[in-house]
Amino acid sequence: MDNIIKVNNVSFEYITDESKLKAIDKLSLEVKKGEFVAIIGHNGSGKSTLSKNLNAILLPSEGNILIDGLDTREESKLWDIRQTAGMVFQNPDNQIVATVVEEDVAFGPENLGIDPIEIRKRVEEALKNVGMYDLRDRQPHLLSGGQKQRVAIAGIIAMKPKCIIFDEATAMLDPSGRKEVMKTIKRLNKEENITTLHITHFMEEAVEADRVIVMEKGKKLLEGTPREVFSSIEMLRTIGLDVPCMTELSSLLKKDGLDISSDILTVDEM
Ligand code: ADP
Repeated sequence: MDNIIKVNNVSFEYITDESKLKAIDKLSLEVKKGEFVAIIGHNGSGKSTLSKNLNAILLPSEGNILIDGLDTREESKLWDIRQTAGMVFQNPDNQIVATVVEEDVAFGPENLGIDPIEIRKRVEEALKNVGMYDLRDRQPHLLSGGQKQRVAIAGIIAMKPKCIIFDEATAMLDPSGRKEVMKTIKRLNKEENITTLHITHFMEEAVEADRVIVMEKGKKLLEGTPREVFSSIEMLRTIGLDVPCMTELSSLLKKDGLDISSDILTVDEM
């Protein structure tokens, strides 16, 4: 099977006594094995609702979602689904469950009932993978935000997922923490072949992906390589990029042979 994530014509409605709100509207997308896909979009475009649907915290009102072929509506497959596609969330503090780093990373595999010798091996491997092995005996709550997120990622890797979904996982970090975590995410994708779905509102992170999906009002507005998505100034305006962000983006895209700086000047003058 080529697709680890397949979203088939999915709609999701929040229903309260007074109102109904369609947060996802007939959305289809897929993430292929080994790919690094970024999802970006304004606040309220449906990114977080989509991520909750991918993790079966919410279930589609219409359509279906397959994670490595497993339908998220099948309750008996819930833990297989969550093990196949691990999730890293926004707030690193909410993901800490133990008082020592290596115990924290061991928590997931322990719950799966894995043999202790195998767990020790996985914890060591996972901590080395995120560059946190030297801090294995530290207290997680004393680490920086970026380090805590890397511990959270190690906890997911120790479960041997095929795919990791990062749900605004860099949003609460300072710039150096964000860089650390992005470096880890990219390394895991390129070197460990972990399929990656990165939901973010940082354009300069989306530029690092193989493919970018732009969401707007619960729909897919646009999809393509970072070069395709960010190459049109009209599109940058539609996405709602601010000028400082565009300047940073322009230098990143220049590495890829694409010069958008003249367009940025036009916007800068507005
Ligand atoms: P994003 O993550 O892109 O900011 P969300 O998925 O959080 O977008 O929100 C999509 C839409 O759904 C927004 O209009 C938001 O107000 C609405 N929404 C989100 N969560 C709820 C909820 N629990 N109840 C009702 N409406 C919600």
